[in-house]
This record gives sequence, C-alpha cells and structure tokens, in this order.
Amino acid sequence: MATGMQQEELISIDPANGSEVGRVRVTAVEELDAIVARGWQAFHRSGWKALLPHKRAAVLRAIADGLAAEKEFLARLQMRDNGKPLGECRGMVDSAVGTFLYYASVCETLETDVTPARGDYLSFTVLEPFGVVAAITPWNSPVMNDATKVAPALAAGNAVILKPSEDAPLLAPELLRIARAAGLPEDLLQVVQGRGAQVGAALVAHPGVRMISFTGGTQSGRSIGRVAGERLVPVALELGGKSPHVVFADADREHAVAAVVAGIFGSAGQSCVAGSRLFIEQSVYDEVLDQVLARARTLRVAAPDASGVEMGPLASFHHRERVAAFVERARAEGGRVRCGGQAPEGAEYASGAYYLPTVIDGLGPQALSCQEEAFGPVLVALPFRDEADLIEQANGTVFGLACGIWTENFKRAWRIGRALEAGSVWINTYKQSVTSTPFGGFKSSGIGREKGIDGLRLYAQVKSLYVGLHAQPLSVAK
Ligand code: NAD
Repeated sequence: MATGMQQEELISIDPANGSEVGRVRVTAVEELDAIVARGWQAFHRSGWKALLPHKRAAVLRAIADGLAAEKEFLARLQMRDNGKPLGECRGMVDSAVGTFLYYASVCETLETDVTPARGDYLSFTVLEPFGVVAAITPWNSPVMNDATKVAPALAAGNAVILKPSEDAPLLAPELLRIARAAGLPEDLLQVVQGRGAQVGAALVAHPGVRMISFTGGTQSGRSIGRVAGERLVPVALELGGKSPHVVFADADREHAVAAVVAGIFGSAGQSCVAGSRLFIEQSVYDEVLDQVLARARTLRVAAPDASGVEMGPLASFHHRERVAAFVERARAEGGRVRCGGQAPEGAEYASGAYYLPTVIDGLGPQALSCQEEAFGPVLVALPFRDEADLIEQANGTVFGLACGIWTENFKRAWRIGRALEAGSVWINTYKQSVTSTPFGGFKSSGIGREKGIDGLRLYAQVKSLYVGLHAQPLSVAK
C-alpha cells in the first residue's frame, strides 16, 4: 500500500488500485510525554504486573479469540493496507492468534531458577517487566509483526506503546480495540502513529521508555541502536536480509525450484527472509536457472483477492519506484535481466503498484545488487564452484538473517548449515516459521531473538532474590 501525509493524517492507499482505504491521525511529538505517562500509570495502577500469570494468560487468550473472531475483516483490511494476497493475510491473522495463545501458555508455565546457595539463605530468580516498552513495526506484515511484539511484552507484565509503519497504519488500532474488548486494562497498550523520523525517533529517545523492540530496515536499526546505546536501554533489533538460497546439483529439483520461486516471490519479495540470492552449483547452473525462469515467467500476478493469485502488487507506489530503481542500477552494473524488470502491461495492472517477478544474473557477488536488500520480487542468481566458494560468497554480505540449502547429502547440508552466518537455516525447505522457535539475525540482520520462550524473556529483566535463613546474626567480618 502507499500512504501520503496530509497535514495531521496518514492516508492508507490500496496499492492494488490506488483507492483510499482509511486515515489515521498522526501523533504529535508533543503528545508523547502524556502518552508515556499514561503507560506508566497503567503499569503501576492497573495491577497487570502483579496479576497472577494464569490470569494475565486468560486476557491474552481472550485477545486471541477476538482476533480469530475478526479474521476475515482483519485479513481484508491488511490486504488493502499493504496489498498482500488475501490468502497470505489470512495466514498472518492465524499467526497473530497463535502468537497470543502461545505467549498465554508461556506466561503461565515459564519457570525461573532456584540457584544453588553457598550459605544460609535461599537464592532464586524472578522476572520483572521493564515498565513502558516501545514496539516499532514495519509495513510488510503488520498484524503478525505487531502480535510478535505485543503478546510477549504484555505477557511479561509491561505496558506497550506500539508504533506501526506510516505505510501500513490501519491494523494496530484494530489490535488495540480488540485487546481492550478482551479486558486488557486501559492504556496498557497504546498506539502512536506517524513517520519513523519524527514520532518513531522521539519515542525511542523518550526517557520514559525503558526498552525498545524494533523490526524494520538495517539503516533505521542502526540509528535506533545508537540512541538506545546512548540511553543505555535494552534494544531488540529484527532487521533486513539478503538471504542465500543454495541449490546443489543433487537437490530434489522439483522441490528446490518451487522453494526458490516461493522463497523470493512470495509476498512479492517483501519479506525479511526472502531468499534473494540464488546460488546454483556450477555444473547445473543453466539448467536450474532455466527452470526458475520458466516458473517466474508464468507466476500469476494479479489483484490480491483474485482467484489463483500468486503475487499481488508491491505495498506502495513509492516502494515500486524503489524496486524499479534497484533493477535499473543492476542493469547499470552489468546485470542481465532474465525476466521481469518492469511493471506488467495491461488494463488490470494500470492503476496498481504491480511489478513483474524479476531474475537477474551475470553479476559478481560484490555487485551492489548482490549486497543490498531490494525488499521486492528481485532475485539475483550466482554460480558456485564448490563448498568453500559457496561459503565465501554466501557469507560475503553484512546480513545474516536466513538461508536455504537444497541437497540430498545430509552431511553436506549439516556442514553448510553450520558454516553459513544466518539466524535461521532451512534444509530442504524454506521460509518455515513458527512462534515456538526463536527468530533473529546474525551480523547486521539484528540483535536478540523474538519468538519462542526467549521471546518473552526479551521483555523481562532477571531479579535475583536472597532470603536469609540464618541461625546466627550476620557478622561484619566473614
Ligand atoms: P523501516 O526501517 O523504514 O521502518 C520500520 C519502522 O520503523 C516503521 O514503523 C518506521 O516508521 C520506523 N522507523 C524508521 N526509522 C526510525 C527511527 N529512526 N526511529 C524510530 N522509528 C523509526 O522499515 P520498513 O521499510 O517499514 O520495512 C522494511 C524493512 O524491514 C526491510 O529491511 C525488512 O527486511 C525489515 N523487516 C525485518 C523483519 C525481521 O524480523 N527481521 C521483518 C519484517 C521486515
């Protein structure tokens, strides 16, 4: 979807047809003091933090029920807000529901430690919330990304201020509405709206915000990390990627080619874990690339709710311009555009932000097009000679979010899977993700792990307690 700013409003534009979907009021930076103060009041006065875990869990389950009850509405709203195919949007609502249910369970089952004592005391740990936490999310999967932060942050007992992307602002207010209806105390979750450089930056810098959880681009992540470092508040960063997708000569070809195509063209490539660098073993390079090209050329690009749609529009018109500029630069670098490389032609595409599935080859691994994230349906293909060559090329970027490996040789898959610098490794599969399994990046793809039990600990700080059991008074000299 695309948005434009009009005075104090963000306007959500449906990228499939250019029509207006809705508007939200931009939060003025001057309002943040009061918003953060309300967050702290809710934290201190609502009793949320002190609520027994199984009771907090009950509210999280009620939020999950509320999301599930409105699945179709939420999926269609996200489809219009950011242009993703309806089926994917439904899956994202399911994922958000699953996330709230999962963290409800973690909330009431998470155990802390009783540690071995070395004296007459009982020593143990408890988890304490930070207080007011900022959650900042991108536009590509708002309903899912919002849940991935809000559910564990609430489960840990925090108050949350959620800032969705200015390019997909419509889902966060719905989550807030549903959470309130589910019994979440007032102001424990608040939503602020606006551009990252304004309200986002002011939120991150606000002295009342005690922890920052961010998902978005690496450049924004660096700037947020700098501010968090200066303020000495913990920060979790889920950032971009340029993930290698590797096909060895012995791979199950049918599955590998299907996964390569799904891995980059699913969500029109607007996925942090998109497999955007295809590495093919040299002996089968032409063959595999031809198969990928044949599939890419016949993908059904259509409106997000069209039957059989495989790729919808890009999320906004300005994002399409960025992707087109990326492809132009690849051409200028000497890349051969083997398919796509332009918007599709025809009346059905005329008013939408569509772009064709694009495959480029002929570039070296150091070309900017092989180093930088396009965050669109753009795949660069590269040959590799042997394992050593592959590892050097594949690890040769600043990123380290994910990778895919296709081979029937298990020992090789294991070796490569351990050698590649990536937070998630998929062997003979791609883009699988589950709430119960940690997710995050190596190198400039991020700091910290969301999802899984660690995903709740991210929003809590460990407190160590000692309870004296002394038979005698403590002495000054031990
Ligand atoms: P972005 O960095 O431009 O914006 C993300 C969010 O941060 C938005 O809400 C934005 O308003 C806000 N923001 C931007 N600059 C800020 C600043 N200085 N201070 C505070 N807030 C700021 O990213 P985007 O274009 O919305 O999303 C695309 C990027 O997100 C891609 O790089 C993609 O790989 C990444 N992403 C990563 C993951 C992951 O889990 N690793 C998931 C989805 C998307």
